[in-house]
Amino acid sequence: MATLKRFFVENIGETCILQGEEFEHAKNVLRLGVGDEVELLDNSGKKYVAVICEVQKRQMTLNVLSVADGDKEAKTAVALAFGYLKNADKNEFIVQKGVELGVQKLIAFSSNFSSAYMSENKLERLNKVSKESAKQCLRDRYPAVEYADSLAKTLDELSEYENKLFACEFAESSEADIAALQGSTAIVIGSEGGFSREEAEMAEEKGFALVSLGKRILRAETAAVALTSVVMFSLGELGDRG
Ligand code: SAM
Repeated sequence: MATLKRFFVENIGETCILQGEEFEHAKNVLRLGVGDEVELLDNSGKKYVAVICEVQKRQMTLNVLSVADGDKEAKTAVALAFGYLKNADKNEFIVQKGVELGVQKLIAFSSNFSSAYMSENKLERLNKVSKESAKQCLRDRYPAVEYADSLAKTLDELSEYENKLFACEFAESSEADIAALQGSTAIVIGSEGGFSREEAEMAEEKGFALVSLGKRILRAETAAVALTSVVMFSLGELGDRG
């Protein structure tokens, strides 16, 4: 059976209104109309099947037919924090892959060697990428992308995670066994400029384990996907154990 088209909406009751960009996409791109069934998501983890019952100039009205608990979210909370990169596409790539891999929290941060600056529009764009990626990979929620204007604030935001991993390009070895993780896990990846020694020391003082990803220097986006993938596999979230 073809997968129903999916839309994130707010305020789902017995009926629901689809408007804005989601309405434009449904009507003008997907050519959906009265009688078509779709899947609605309200970021609660539940998913709703609804049928379009009315199409107006700027909105659609849908009747909700059923509701079920989603089953695509990771069982373990994983956060991915990454140094905001100069190249917008690479930031979007990190967000998109983090969502597909199942992270539940995304933070873009500025640090000592950052050379790119965040804006409201750029952050809004990253949240749109998160939402679209969640729709595509059948997740029931999309993680909001947050911005932190310092590494210290980022590390403090992640203080409650049981495993705190700080990918450090100059770490001689890893201070955590990333192949045998259990419990909530935070991942921190530097920007193009990487981290200063002082930042690595601060991370250790805040309970983060320095993690080496080998003797080669990976691009930030490679490191983000590589470490998130290893963490997700280690937590049993990839493969048939997921
Ligand atoms: N400017 C740094 C340099 O020239 O050494 C490279 C930074 S690297 C492009 C961006 C981030 O990816 C790093 O801050 C780190 O978080 C992660 N990373 C890349 N290679 C790594 C490695 N071999 N081990 C641990 N982390 C790595």
